[in-house]
Amino acid sequence: MALGEDGEARGKVEFVRVSKAYDGAIAVHDVDLRIPAGCYCCLLGPSGCGKSTSLRMLAGHEIATSGDILLDDRNVTLLPPARRSTSMMFQSYALFPHLTVAENVAFALRMRGVGKAERLGRAREMLKLVDLSALSERRPAQLSGGQQQRVALARALITSPSVLLLDEPLSALDPFLRLRVRAELKRLQKALGISFVHVTHSQDEALALSDLVVLMNAGRIEQQGTAEDLFSRPRTAFVARFIGAHNVIDLGDRAVAVRTDRTAVLPASGVSRFADGDVGRMARPAVVRAVEYAGTGFAVHLVDEGGAELSALMSEGDFHRAAIGEGESVVASWAPADAHALEGGAI
Ligand code: ADP
Ligand code: MG
Repeated sequence: MALGEDGEARGKVEFVRVSKAYDGAIAVHDVDLRIPAGCYCCLLGPSGCGKSTSLRMLAGHEIATSGDILLDDRNVTLLPPARRSTSMMFQSYALFPHLTVAENVAFALRMRGVGKAERLGRAREMLKLVDLSALSERRPAQLSGGQQQRVALARALITSPSVLLLDEPLSALDPFLRLRVRAELKRLQKALGISFVHVTHSQDEALALSDLVVLMNAGRIEQQGTAEDLFSRPRTAFVARFIGAHNVIDLGDRAVAVRTDRTAVLPASGVSRFADGDVGRMARPAVVRAVEYAGTGFAVHLVDEGGAELSALMSEGDFHRAAIGEGESVVASWAPADAHALEGGAI
């Protein structure tokens, strides 16, 4: 399995002005997207922004209202799912309860008329890939949630797809298992040299996994790039807020994003304590609304005089030195060099 026969990565995906309307309501609007071969791509965004619809159009479970979808340079816009070299792993796993693990994994080959010995041989290879060889004769009910998920993965991979499609694959798992399966997905994608397109509303998940993050908002792509691109250069206020760990600050003539860990807070009475190096910092009076212990420090949540919310992630040392508490008047400040200009204002 692994990389294609010539060792080339597979799974180049292109959306060319793709739209989808349901009864006149536009779910996906003029999306242009290029996913290189061998890419881990996350479609990220709030509920209802069009992630699953985009994924289903790539799978062939929905047909685009307009535009073209190309897979490895082949136009697949109108092809049925089985002829696209995509495979979908469903959130509910949808395993057959009366079949063994090996038979579940081999199922798609049985549908394609592959002989029993060959399909069970392939199923064994897939089970080895997801580290489940020992459980091949069990039934799904005798497996944990994490194990069922790996069976579902093996089952989706047995047809050697160029692109594996995953819709919120980690949302049913507990937080500990989620981290393990997340690492496993990344390892598999790299080993197979195919593309994974993974839908999630969790920015942590997208930042951790993606070679390419595609952040959607109301049926459109708001920004796409590496996780670092989105985090350090959010294009709009929406991106800065959705990615988190940023303050969106309205400066009147423009809006900027400032990382919460680059936002400092001092008691209003202590502003004279600004040292020489701090002169020229942008400052804004505010009141402390809440303080939360965040493990790596303290998250201090503020409201400024105009009612806008700000947060600062302070180290334990800085927090204790500043001696600030809820209800207190403070000054939030940041270095102009840490203020990243946003397109389209603070809304
Ligand atoms: P996401 O996966 O990002 O939460 P979806 O792609 O499921 O969003 O949905 C995008 C929009 O399209 C939503 O407004 C949703 O209500 C609508 N939608 C999705 N599927 C259908 C459908 N089968 N019929 C009508 N509207 C739909
Ligand atoms: Mg969805």
